Amino acid sequence: MLAVDLSRIIRLNREMTSRVFNFNAGPAGLPEAVLRQVQSELLNFGETGMSVMEMSHRSKVYMAIQEEAKSLFKKLLNIPTDYEVLFLQGGASLQFSMIPMNLVQVNHPVDFIHTGAWTEKALEELIKVGEYRMVASSESVKHTQIPQVSANQFNPKASYTYICSNNTIFGTQWDQFPKGVPSPLVADMSSDILSRNFDITDFGLVFAGAQKNLGPSGVTVVIIKKELANRAPNSIPTMLQYRTHIKADSLYNTPPTFGIYIMGLVLKWIDSLGGLTSIEKINNDKAKVLYDFIDNSNSFYCPVKTEYRSKMNVVFRLKSKDEAAESALCKALEKKGLVGLAGHRSVGGLRASIYNAHPIEGVKALVAALKEAESEFK
Ligand SMILES: *Cc1c(COP(=O)(O)O)cnc(C)c1O
Repeated sequence: MLAVDLSRIIRLNREMTSRVFNFNAGPAGLPEAVLRQVQSELLNFGETGMSVMEMSHRSKVYMAIQEEAKSLFKKLLNIPTDYEVLFLQGGASLQFSMIPMNLVQVNHPVDFIHTGAWTEKALEELIKVGEYRMVASSESVKHTQIPQVSANQFNPKASYTYICSNNTIFGTQWDQFPKGVPSPLVADMSSDILSRNFDITDFGLVFAGAQKNLGPSGVTVVIIKKELANRAPNSIPTMLQYRTHIKADSLYNTPPTFGIYIMGLVLKWIDSLGGLTSIEKINNDKAKVLYDFIDNSNSFYCPVKTEYRSKMNVVFRLKSKDEAAESALCKALEKKGLVGLAGHRSVGGLRASIYNAHPIEGVKALVAALKEAESEFK
């Protein structure tokens, strides 16, 4: 009896752990090593006899977890002491409101750069709070490019300058950030944070929902130059003021504890790979494998010009632009364990999201499957 049960358990376990190559745009795949560690610590974290989910957020054990995640962020991005790292909730989308509520100054319109669906959403919230000036937009080219901007286009008196570093849906990415921006630069880095090196001191605030490159959904990371938090009028809700969370070290109320714990493990994983310089190289290599294949393919093309292409979200289409064939292709790929390749519903085509945690083996498997599919799907 026991032998039978054991083999059944082993079989079930195998079925449960046979993982696909996950190309979802977000929530996205996590490093398998991290998931295994979470699994091993799930019932009894560090001899506490409980899961991190069940712990008081004021307990020493939990506070050490949160502190470590924060210090890893500071280490990886080399964040100086006049900045604060906050772990908030409400997704990246709440930042579309919090940023203008906290940072807009009357008569100082925001300098805005529009590069896709996520800046559009940010703009919808910004105009409820304050004024803006459109510095540049890629709308006329359907967001297949990043606009060229030079320092003299910016207003030194702007409340801040807003960009999105990687446009998850259109597959474009700022390769070099705009230089010489005179007002605090604010960036939505939801889909490329910690995928490459950048100088945090070029920015006043960067933010990211965790579910693409950092961990599970439910945590939003905000890195803010502390002095900017002083701008907020007291009339805005306490929970929506950055200074509330700076003062309380992201423990003003119950933070998303389990998500922060997993994010901390992801940060440790990045650190163990050699930090951002190593991760950047790995990401460049991964993206190159896929773009090289697409550029040399008779069946596929990438609508984004080389210099604007995202290393995180690779969008591509059949040259025939046959939508039915594209959707059939996604289904065929899914059967092979290559999952989440449909383009965003607003743009169609295919999209391979290859964030930090996506292994190069997944990209190679995708290229092999696309090669095979070329004769069938045109
Ligand atoms: C996914 C995404 C968002 C939205 O994030 P939520 O956490 O779902 O609010 C915002 N901006 C960018 C660039 C994204 O990729």
